[in-house]
Amino acid sequence: MRGEEPVVVEALKARALPEGSRDKLLEFLRLYRDAVQMVVDRIWSINKKLSWRKLHRLFYSDLVSMGFRAHHAKEAYVYAKSLVESARSNGGRKPAHRKLSARIDKYDYRLDLDNMVLTLKLHSDYEVRLRLITSRDRVGKFRGWSNYEIVVKYEDGEFWVSVYFRRIIKPLKPRTVMVIDLNFDNATLAIFTLSGRLIRLKRFKTPHRKILTHRIWTERIQRRYPRSWRFIKGVRKAIERHGERIRNISWDYSHKIGDLIAELALKYQSVVVLEDLDELRENNRKSKRFNKKLGLWFYRRIQFCIEYEARERSLEVIKIDPRGTSSKCPRCNRKLVENKHRVLRCRECSFMGDRDVAATLNIYKKYISKYSRCGAPGVAPNTPKPNENTSGMRGNRDEAMKTNQII
Ligand SMILES: [Zn+2]
Repeated sequence: MRGEEPVVVEALKARALPEGSRDKLLEFLRLYRDAVQMVVDRIWSINKKLSWRKLHRLFYSDLVSMGFRAHHAKEAYVYAKSLVESARSNGGRKPAHRKLSARIDKYDYRLDLDNMVLTLKLHSDYEVRLRLITSRDRVGKFRGWSNYEIVVKYEDGEFWVSVYFRRIIKPLKPRTVMVIDLNFDNATLAIFTLSGRLIRLKRFKTPHRKILTHRIWTERIQRRYPRSWRFIKGVRKAIERHGERIRNISWDYSHKIGDLIAELALKYQSVVVLEDLDELRENNRKSKRFNKKLGLWFYRRIQFCIEYEARERSLEVIKIDPRGTSSKCPRCNRKLVENKHRVLRCRECSFMGDRDVAATLNIYKKYISKYSRCGAPGVAPNTPKPNENTSGMRGNRDEAMKTNQII
């Protein structure tokens, strides 16, 4: 999104000691938990998307009459909505919000980093002061950053605070365009010059299949013990182990590939162009391929890491609506047909190319036509033919196939 400045976000987590009694803070957290649950209960039965305005109309006055301040109320229904949405997208049941944790907006707290004191505005005009327990070194990093939200938690008899900091960075002026196309089996990365010449093409394997294997195991176990798996310790443990493997594999991969891609983007001083996954709908060809087995969460995680690492390096990140990018001819926009495995062909202009490469070309074109001041060039003059080395490309088309083992 152009116009928005690139931002880096990071959280500082610290133990917090209330000065004086802890009762009011606990009371606030309980009230907040009940409020979130109340909103969840009520929107769970409404089976359509609710706008912010609608949520505000439905819940604002109720929440305020419970003693919440304006921004507490907003944070509570926003949080409830996100809980409901993620439960729905996972096909889960209605969420039960048991944890004592609250998000608090910048209007309802004051943070004094020099003295490590946090003042929170609670319900019914109460206020509490908390001393944050963490090292000076960790805090030092965040001088000059702004903070905009905190999360307060009560866990195992202690309070914890996460302060969310952000820093606006001045982006480097891009010299090249790096496009990343994510698929089930691989991530394809293509770097173009601003005039449309392809200078680098790389492919990384994704661990989707590994993740899928753990997912299949989990489902198999659940099918074998359809009702009891939650209650038999050994079975539950086995499921948890698969879940943990999935988490580790996906985070490891995302961090590594994020770092690798951002380093390369820095070397080429690229603007990083990603697909906007929010634009994908059920009936879209690409989203079908995405959703078939795993859903979008892993793609989002990879993108999150790429975006984060790129912004850390002062590189601009832009998201492009991916609709049509994996099915249209990058030269003449007609529908491509499958020639043989993963190779697509255009019946009109005889363009022929690998599916992922065609997608990166289309994303590049969309980016240029949307953001470039000098208009849209055509297809890269040196578009690689399938199984062909192209001048201007460093190494083999599949150089990445040798270096794809990043996990
Ligand atoms: Zn064509």
